[in-house]
Amino acid sequence: MATVKNWQLGRDMEYPYEGNRPKQQITMFFDLNKCIACQTCTMACKTTWTSGKGQEAIFWNNVESKPYGFYPLAWDVKILDILGSQPWSGSTYKGKTIFEDTAMEEKVRGFLPDEMDYMSPNLGEDEAIRIQTTEGDYIKGPTHKNWGFYLPRICNHCTYPGCLAACPRKAIYKRQEDGIVLIDQSKCRGYRECVKACPYKKAYYNNTTRVSEKCISCYPKIEKGEMSQCVTNCIGRIRIQAYKSTDLTKIRKNNVADFLVHVRKIALPLYPQFGTEPNNYYIPPIHVDLAYLTQMFGPGVENAIKQYRNAGKDKELLSALILFGNTEKISDTFKYDEKTDEAVSYDTEGREIVRVPCTEPTYIRKVLNAKTGAFLTNNS
Ligand code: SF4
Ligand code: SF4
Repeated sequence: MATVKNWQLGRDMEYPYEGNRPKQQITMFFDLNKCIACQTCTMACKTTWTSGKGQEAIFWNNVESKPYGFYPLAWDVKILDILGSQPWSGSTYKGKTIFEDTAMEEKVRGFLPDEMDYMSPNLGEDEAIRIQTTEGDYIKGPTHKNWGFYLPRICNHCTYPGCLAACPRKAIYKRQEDGIVLIDQSKCRGYRECVKACPYKKAYYNNTTRVSEKCISCYPKIEKGEMSQCVTNCIGRIRIQAYKSTDLTKIRKNNVADFLVHVRKIALPLYPQFGTEPNNYYIPPIHVDLAYLTQMFGPGVENAIKQYRNAGKDKELLSALILFGNTEKISDTFKYDEKTDEAVSYDTEGREIVRVPCTEPTYIRKVLNAKTGAFLTNNS
């Protein structure tokens, strides 16, 4: 085991390979306050990449209703249960990751879901009393207070991927140019070690091809400077993609990803305690139980919610948030234009990509249309 730096845990940790951060990392952001669970992203991904034989129940992108929806069933409660209660001390994780809580000979702690646990992209939704899995009940006791939210998920293209660490064939690799994690299917022999090891259950075994597969981050689009299908098709405009600096001493305040993650710290990783340093970031919902959110997104939740509530007054933050869903091109830098009250984003050449008004324009129609003589209000 090597010792690597995991900034999300605030400490070094053990990993089977030496650290090898890419030059830059493509990251995806999700504003969970805006997702409406329409599953358009799920279908955009499915029709693009997983409509083949053996992929009937494979959803590289899924959206689940939390706390009771899952794909596969109980994926998160089960690995949390295996790891047991693990403490944070401030922003430092004191517990064990999936690479540290291992038995003899085991590289990664995990579990292999049952085939039936992949039946639908939101299994267990609306079952408010309890979830019955093949191995027992996973949510017990009284129902929770009145809250719920939707959690869209794709592969996290982790800095320390569990799938890559566990693969005995060395078929999984992380690209230096953009940090995308891929499976070389010509090397894969379908041992399913990646399925077992990925704590997010985002590596899938295809029963027909007999090899594993996973989200490829729509890399043909990314290579052209365009965002992935699940981002550009999102109805709720909850998503954006950007390159995040991998050298934390060179954070750029005017880069959307660095700004949201490292400057304002409003966007948080999903279950950072697993130790894979995931590269999708979530703006937590502001109406949900804090203890639940802290377990899911780590100790930065309170600050993130405070920042979000203040976004109306914080024009720089508002500008970054308003760019979500408003451009298909990956932006390099952004700014708030005070003169025009607009959010502006630029590509790597400094060319303007898009301008979005920070204040929704209001139009007040006249009651009487003088030209036609028609009244434009209901005056009955
Ligand atoms: S989310 Fe899972 S499949 Fe994706 S890179 Fe991380 S460990 Fe691998
Ligand atoms: S398309 Fe957007 S709003 Fe609809 S479910 Fe997917 S992430 Fe949520």
